[in-house]
Amino acid sequence: MTGQREGGCLCGAVRYRATWPPMLTAVCHCKNCQKQSGSALSVVAVLPRDGLQVTGELTTYQDIGSTGQAVWRKFCGKCGSPVVTDTPTAEANKIIFIKAGTLDEAQDLAPTLHYWTDSAQHWFVFPEGVECLNTQ
Ligand SMILES: [Zn+2]
Ligand SMILES: [Zn+2]
Repeated sequence: MTGQREGGCLCGAVRYRATWPPMLTAVCHCKNCQKQSGSALSVVAVLPRDGLQVTGELTTYQDIGSTGQAVWRKFCGKCGSPVVTDTPTAEANKIIFIKAGTLDEAQDLAPTLHYWTDSAQHWFVFPEGVECLNTQ
């Protein structure tokens, strides 16, 4: 059964409602996600584009992905929380990514895929049974 889940940035200026469960929950260990999050990784949930409604204003930083394509990193301009990631390919495939740590309820997330593990911080212990990709 398809439900919904809500989330938002730290200050609450940006809120969203997402169809749930997501198509995929994954962890990105790329250097750019580490920089953007100030952390070790990004937890990303993949949603159908029409399954995400955002209220409030997102600011976009246009990053460049490894393949040279644009990566639109969308964050709350007030508190800085990264909330949404989008790319031209995601647009074409009618999907969109949310930073799953911004969900109001995130404790039951169980990412099945870890990617860019080549740049993972060395202290990180990969859970058993997850799929790992060295790069994308
Ligand atoms: Zn905010
Ligand atoms: Zn990344």
